[in-house]
Amino acid sequence: MLKLYNTLTRKIEEFKPLKPPQVSYYSCGPTVYDFAHIGHARTYIFTDILQRALEFNGFKVKRVMNITDVGHLTSDADSGEDKMEKGAKREKKTVWEIAGFYTEDFFQMLKLLNIKKPEHITRATEYIPQMVKLISQLAKKGFTYKTSDGIYFDTSRLPDYAKLTGKTYSELEASLKSGARVEKVPGKKNITDFALWKLTPQGVNRQMEWDSPWGKGFPGWHIECSAMSMAILGPTLDIHTGGIDHISIHHTNEIAQSEGVTGKQFVHFWLHAGHLMVEGGKMSKSAGNFIRVADLIKKSFSPTALRLLFLSASYRKEMNFTWKGMEAAQSAYENLMSAVGELKLSKNPGVKVSHNFRQEFTDAVNEDLNMAKAVAVMWETLKSSIAANEKYDLLLFYDKVLGLDLVKAKAEAEDITLPRNIKELVEQREEFRKSGKFTEADRIRDLIAQKGFNVQDSPGGPIVIHNAIIKKITGIDNGDN
Ligand code: AMP
Ligand code: ZN
Repeated sequence: MLKLYNTLTRKIEEFKPLKPPQVSYYSCGPTVYDFAHIGHARTYIFTDILQRALEFNGFKVKRVMNITDVGHLTSDADSGEDKMEKGAKREKKTVWEIAGFYTEDFFQMLKLLNIKKPEHITRATEYIPQMVKLISQLAKKGFTYKTSDGIYFDTSRLPDYAKLTGKTYSELEASLKSGARVEKVPGKKNITDFALWKLTPQGVNRQMEWDSPWGKGFPGWHIECSAMSMAILGPTLDIHTGGIDHISIHHTNEIAQSEGVTGKQFVHFWLHAGHLMVEGGKMSKSAGNFIRVADLIKKSFSPTALRLLFLSASYRKEMNFTWKGMEAAQSAYENLMSAVGELKLSKNPGVKVSHNFRQEFTDAVNEDLNMAKAVAVMWETLKSSIAANEKYDLLLFYDKVLGLDLVKAKAEAEDITLPRNIKELVEQREEFRKSGKFTEADRIRDLIAQKGFNVQDSPGGPIVIHNAIIKKITGIDNGDN
């Protein structure tokens, strides 16, 4: 029996879909104006573990994830710039080019982390008619009002508007009012009201804008998710996920819009992932303090080691990424890989044990995705004295949820981690460089290249990376050197 913590009820509940064995599942996707970072990696590994846990329990998952390529403003208070237009200005490219480039970067990150791509990926810009329709329906029901800059949702019309936040309306209002930066939007009646449609201001040149019954403009970020989820999954979803930051504004507004239109419950189970901090600090695209999975690879860490690191903590709690923790995860991962490799070769007949590892693992997963416990069962299995082939079978059984790609893992580990002989050559080259012997240093660089690795000098020391990985990240094939 799968039990999940539901943000809506603030309880761990038995998961029951509306139409078993079908499960409708929507995940809020990224805003593609910049590179994906390891904070995103944490949230999307959680959404992947959830999908795998559902399938592990025999459910058939129909899952949608959006790509926000318009309408997400730099401020949650409906002011500020559209993040996409800002990204385009920064890089002197079109918004469409920015969207295409960073969507691809996001997909590559999913692949590197062995995250299953949801069955339906929906781009906000492809669902504008559905959004306009929802806004028109809300307008007909009297949920909207017009200001000089757009069409707004009147949150005072919904008595249970704040239900997802676990606060009363006045508490939510007070917490928003005391927020660090609450920009005033002229004509907005309540602090919780939000834009459904923003009109392109006079004299402003937007790259993305559409005609609507209210004038040329673009959709608000929240209406995008209501429109895309309901277009594919219907009026009521079994599961909806996102990061914890989405609870009080984005998801609360999605509920208001969707339930405002349909009069039905929008989502039964709301699940939220805790945030990832880096060395104790807040990490976000806007703060410009982010680490990409590609950065880890450049430092010779395996993306799968990052996945293992994230599985070691509860998905709901805030987690602090440290380089020390990453190193420990990398060596745990390498130990795991060599243990799996040895199992494949071993003929150890082992002994019968009273342990029911399968059940222990399943119970851990079903206990609100207690992956730390599930991973502990995996290590216990490896340490136990049962037959090697039985251990290998168990590991493959666990891997359906863990997604550490244990079958391919050994080959991948050899691909990504730096062999000792290469490390030694890199050190020798550094010695030559430091003593000004550049011809010798170049000779060693060529030798390293012949072995399939590329050395680049950086202020922090040399960066060594396998050519296959460079190809994986950049699409550039360096050949054998
Ligand atoms: P964004 O691209 O900022 O809209 O974020 C996409 C998803 O990643 C959302 O569900 C966010 O909550 C989540 N996210 C963003 N930053 C972090 C972080 N530092 N840690 C965990 N999740 C994050
Ligand atoms: Zn969303």
